[in-house]
Amino acid sequence: MAVLGYRPEPFTDFRREENFRAFKAALEMVEGELGRAYPLIISGDRVRSGVTFDSVNPANPGQLIGRVSQAERNHFEQAMQAAQGAFETWSRWDPRWRARILLKAAAQLRRRKHEFSALLVLEVGKPWPEADADTAEAIDFLEFYAREMVRLAEGSPRLTAMPGEDNELIYMPMGVGAVIPPFNFPLAIACGMTASAIVAGNTVLLKPAVPAPVVAYRLVELLEDAGLPPGVVNLLPSGGPEVGQWMVSDPRTHFISFTGSRDVGVQIYAEAAKVAPGQRHLKRVIAELGGKDAIVVAEDADPEAAATGIVAAAFGFGGQKCSACSRAIVHQDLYDQVLELAVRKTERLVVGDPRNENTDVGPLAGPRYLERVLKYIEIGKGEGRVATGGGAVETPSGGYFVKPTIFADVEPGARIAQEEIFGPVVAFHKAPDFRTAVAMANDTEYGLTGAIYTRSRENIEYARREYQVGNLYINRKCTGALVGVHPFGGFKLSGTDSKAGGHDYLTLFLQAKSVSEQL
Ligand code: NAD
Repeated sequence: MAVLGYRPEPFTDFRREENFRAFKAALEMVEGELGRAYPLIISGDRVRSGVTFDSVNPANPGQLIGRVSQAERNHFEQAMQAAQGAFETWSRWDPRWRARILLKAAAQLRRRKHEFSALLVLEVGKPWPEADADTAEAIDFLEFYAREMVRLAEGSPRLTAMPGEDNELIYMPMGVGAVIPPFNFPLAIACGMTASAIVAGNTVLLKPAVPAPVVAYRLVELLEDAGLPPGVVNLLPSGGPEVGQWMVSDPRTHFISFTGSRDVGVQIYAEAAKVAPGQRHLKRVIAELGGKDAIVVAEDADPEAAATGIVAAAFGFGGQKCSACSRAIVHQDLYDQVLELAVRKTERLVVGDPRNENTDVGPLAGPRYLERVLKYIEIGKGEGRVATGGGAVETPSGGYFVKPTIFADVEPGARIAQEEIFGPVVAFHKAPDFRTAVAMANDTEYGLTGAIYTRSRENIEYARREYQVGNLYINRKCTGALVGVHPFGGFKLSGTDSKAGGHDYLTLFLQAKSVSEQL
């Protein structure tokens, strides 16, 4: 199979007139299709349920994106049986055939890129470039995991030769998996988690995040259009946690691929460890959870570059990224300067409806996210000084907007410095020296991403060794990992360090069989 080298999908330059117009047209087209009913997908069949929930535009909650069927217990049962049935054939497909379905889906997604990105603008409130990056990442996952499966299908070439024996290590699929993605990369992460599981030969039950069921429906359609057989991916949306809980606790589930918050991930981890009567396997859990990511600024850093990185990483997609910078730990000699620059840059950000091309910060994904962020802003007022922002933004449409907020002079042990907020809020801390700053950065239960700004080789080597994060960035912001370039996943309570988009990732969805024949 001629698979050419993988390269990340380029981002769209919206300053070019043709791209700008094409995106506007895509927004209009997607808006023309809003408000439809979205059924479940079980074994390729469209199944309507008696219970529905609404997906709405968070910038304008009066705008219905779709009315979505909610899976009930009998649907879950049908889907589980469909996935078990499909496993019997799908798991025996030539892995290269499976890979070709991903490559075809990638090609179709590339052709329909703006349509998917426009839906992300409307369903979860992503500004244009953020939506474009989400779609590009979904393409990358399809392209990357397709190639990875082809590589793994060739077996391990690295076994030590033993005279008189023919030895091989082959990778085999596991069974039915639960795929439970978060809302914040509703296309890229849902696509990456699904594509990795199925290209490895497993079949899945996919439960999309509550705020983003319509984009998940479109994703499954895309895979079907690329030739995915019925029953390989079964879509079971729900307006609450129960469908996910059924998927996790069912003894027929072989693995759980979860990306989401720490609390839910920890519960799933514990639940999956239980072995039900009659269950003949241990469930594997791949869990990628939250972060409390910090950017450390050393005394020799470029203050302008550091402030730019902090603001971009703190407020990109309104801070709703696991990798978002929520702490800036700045050497005392640069503290006032970096803080002032960051405040100035933040106050220039345009907050508003991401349908408009010049919006930098859109809404939070829903009322429960807004409530949570506003609660933390109130807590922060008792723990630091509001340097800018500090509350909701009222709009006539009633969207879930918050002002990008910087708290200055926060103690490292403060709640806003320890707990994941998942909104446009960053705390500034003053540090006496670089090593203390790294120790402050490490002093949380999370270990997902981190960045340092410094010109010193000694500082850089110290951070490479001592900064306890799964993704460390040097002299750049702590968001924006690229598939295949920056394998992604965290330490500590940020997860099982699965390194999505890396060469080790697909083996998490496979079991390796070592076969030895006496010659
Ligand atoms: P969440 O934990 O609220 O939900 C994640 C998914 O779990 C959703 O599909 C949700 O419906 C489902 N769910 C909720 N309760 C469940 C239960 N009891 N059993 C089974 N499933 C259940 O997270 P979210 O708000 O959608 O996403 C934001 C979180 O995700 C943040 O904490 C963020 O840091 C994290 N995240 C991590 C990564 C990473 O790679 N580490 C990437 C993106 C997001």
